[in-house]
Amino acid sequence: MPHIAYVNGQYVPQSTAMVHIEDRGYQFADGIYEVCVVVNGCYWDMDGHLVRMQRSLSELEMDAPMDMRALKVVMGEVVRRNRLKDALVYMQVTRGVAPRNHAFPPEGTAPSLVITARRFDFDQSDVKANHGIAVISQPDIRWGRVDIKTVGLLPNALAKEAATKAGAAEAILVRDGVVTECSASNAWIVDETGAIVTHPKTNEILGGITRQTAIACAEELQIKVIERPFTLEEAKAAPEAFLTSATSFVMPIISIDGTRIGSGKPGPVALRLREAYKACAAKG
Ligand code: PMP
Repeated sequence: MPHIAYVNGQYVPQSTAMVHIEDRGYQFADGIYEVCVVVNGCYWDMDGHLVRMQRSLSELEMDAPMDMRALKVVMGEVVRRNRLKDALVYMQVTRGVAPRNHAFPPEGTAPSLVITARRFDFDQSDVKANHGIAVISQPDIRWGRVDIKTVGLLPNALAKEAATKAGAAEAILVRDGVVTECSASNAWIVDETGAIVTHPKTNEILGGITRQTAIACAEELQIKVIERPFTLEEAKAAPEAFLTSATSFVMPIISIDGTRIGSGKPGPVALRLREAYKACAAKG
């Protein structure tokens, strides 16, 4: 069965799906995206992702391709047509097609919308979490508005590639000695008191939807949450470290640049929070 994608109003086989060469997403990275997972037919944190999508669009003065209710229907249809129970759904909106010119195209230019879905291996994620992951540090060379979820991801891709070459699962990004986040996830440490620490939600990080839900879960578990910058040195010396994202949930980190974190095994706080996050996100 071919993979089916939604492209500007049509459901088409992914292998023949096409976008225009003058799409502004292609030429200027002038577009935004969202990724969320469906587990057992249930969307995790979907409303959070749609709220952030609307924010990304409005920060870039871009029109929404359709209202959010209709978007939910199309997402559901892409998952259904691909016969997926556990899925990773990718949505991308660009400013549309226009003759190449840096300035915005004329008012009324239709935004482009692409939605794809692929199988998400929920069990494999748990296997990975039970082992924990290695990460390496990389310089954070991104622009000043990474709070907007744009498709301009070249620095993230370079950092992730460096991690992959080093045999690590993710790159932790560092600016002026401070850990901002990771190439595709938010970074956290556990301090000596058992509190969890993550970079404040500024223009220097993407405000993760998983981060947001994890904060609510931690509060329910009476784990103290501290939003403050922390250094790479502090992270290496922390009792625990972990990352969060829609596709990793809460993922324990067991080494940074080859330095063992805590016991070198997934820490109890991260594992507890992972279970709480899964239970909470599964409620929809
Ligand atoms: N930071 C970056 C740079 C990311 O790409 C992502 C994942 N899209 C995140 C953080 C985590 O965001 P979320 O929890 O919404 O997946």
